[in-house]
Amino acid sequence: MARELVSVDDHLQRILDTVYPLQPYDQPLLEALDLPICEEVVSPIDLPGFDNSAMDGYAVRSEEVAEATESYPVWLPVVGESAAGQSEAFALSAGSALRIMTGAPVPAGADAIVPLEWTNRGIAEVAIHRAAPPGLHVRRVGEDIRAGQRLFEEGTVLGPREIGLLAAVGRAQVRARPRPRVVVISTGSELREPGTALGFDSVYDSNSHALAAAARRAGAVSYRVGIVSDDPHEFRAALSDQLVRADVVVTSGGVSKGDYDVVKEVLSKSGGVDFYDVAMKPGKPQGFGTVGEDDTPIFTLPGNPVSAYVSFEVFVLPAIRRLMGRMPYRRPMVRAISGKLIRSVPGKQQYIRAQFAVDPRGAHVSPVGGDGSHLIGDLAAANALIVAPDHVVEVPAGSHADVIVLDRDF
Ligand code: AMP
Ligand code: MG
Repeated sequence: MARELVSVDDHLQRILDTVYPLQPYDQPLLEALDLPICEEVVSPIDLPGFDNSAMDGYAVRSEEVAEATESYPVWLPVVGESAAGQSEAFALSAGSALRIMTGAPVPAGADAIVPLEWTNRGIAEVAIHRAAPPGLHVRRVGEDIRAGQRLFEEGTVLGPREIGLLAAVGRAQVRARPRPRVVVISTGSELREPGTALGFDSVYDSNSHALAAAARRAGAVSYRVGIVSDDPHEFRAALSDQLVRADVVVTSGGVSKGDYDVVKEVLSKSGGVDFYDVAMKPGKPQGFGTVGEDDTPIFTLPGNPVSAYVSFEVFVLPAIRRLMGRMPYRRPMVRAISGKLIRSVPGKQQYIRAQFAVDPRGAHVSPVGGDGSHLIGDLAAANALIVAPDHVVEVPAGSHADVIVLDRDF
C-alpha cells in the first residue's frame, strides 16, 4: 500500500514549529563563540582607558624638544622610569624627561613620546636628536572606544574579534543561548564499536560518529551514546536514561518497514512521535516528535549512512540552529554549473553527492560516485549535495544546479 509522501518543506516546517530557542543565560565569553548574543552590549569604559605610550622612549613636553637636531641635541634630565603596569601617577615637571615603555601611562604635562632610536638612550640625562611634534606616539584615551558606546547589537554572532573586544572592555560574561545538547543513539544488532572485532555479518557504527560530529560542527554539544541493539527493552531503557541530558535526541536505524525496526516499534506506541515517508531521496523514512516528561524533540533518522547524514543536514541542522537562535536555519543554496548530466527521480527531492569547486570561470559542481545510500566512501569524497527538486528529472551538463556546500559556513 503506497502511503502519501510528506514534502521536505512540510516536514521541516513541522520541526521548526515544534522546536523553540533555548533560554539565554550569562555565559563565560569563550563559551559564547559562534553564538548570537541576547543583549545589546554597551562599553562601560573608554579604550584606551588612559593616555599611554605607543613606543619605548622618553615622555617630554614637545615644545621643549622642538629645536632638537642630530648636531644640536636637546639635553634633558631623566627624572624616572615608567613601565606598563609598574608606574605611579606622575606629573612631568618642566625641563625634564621620563623614560617610558610601551603601554605605560603618559605623565601629566608630557604631550609626546620620543622613541629610543632618536636618543642616546641616556639614564640620568638624555640627548634628544629629533623634534617630536605634539601627540607623537601617544595613544589617546577613548580614541578607539568611548564609554557608553554601543559595541554590539542583539543577535550579533560572536567570533574571536568580538570576544576580544568584550574582554578588552572588561566583560567576563555575555548573555547567549546555551549550546543545544544533542544525544545521538545508533540502533542495530549488527553494529559494532570501531576498534573492536567485526563478525562476518556485523558493521562498524559509523552513523553515531558522523551525526555527533555534524551536531558538534553545527554548534551543539553532542553526546554519542554507544550502540543499542534491536531489542525494544534495551532501546526504551537507553532512551529514558539519556533524556536527562538531551535538548534533542537523534537516533539512526530501525524506522523502515521490516521486522526488528526497534525505534518505530517502541515510539509508535508512545504517541508523541509520527513516522512517515518524506518525498526525498535518500532519506525517505523519517520520524519526528517529542518524548519524555519535558517533551524533548526526537529525530528518528534512517539507518543507511548516507540517508542518515542527508537527513541530518536537511532536518536536524535547522533545528539545532533554531535552538541556538542562529539565523538562517537552513544552509543557503548556491548555484553552480553542472559538469555532467544529472538524472533525478520525479516526485522526490533528490540530494546528489557532488564535488563543488570555484575557479576563475565560476562555481562548478559534478556528481561523485553512485546513488546507493550505503556508499559512505562516496559520501566522504563529496563536499556538496546537488538538490534536484521534485519536478526536475534532468539537469543537462552546462546548466545551473542548486547546491548545498556542506562544509561552508552559513
Ligand atoms: P535500518 O535503517 O536499521 O534498517 O538500517 C539500514 C542499513 O543501514 C543497514 O544496512 C544497516 O546495517 C545500516 N546501518 C544502520 N545503522 C548504522 C550505523 N549506525 N552505522 C553504519 N551502518 C548502519
Ligand atoms: Mg536496523
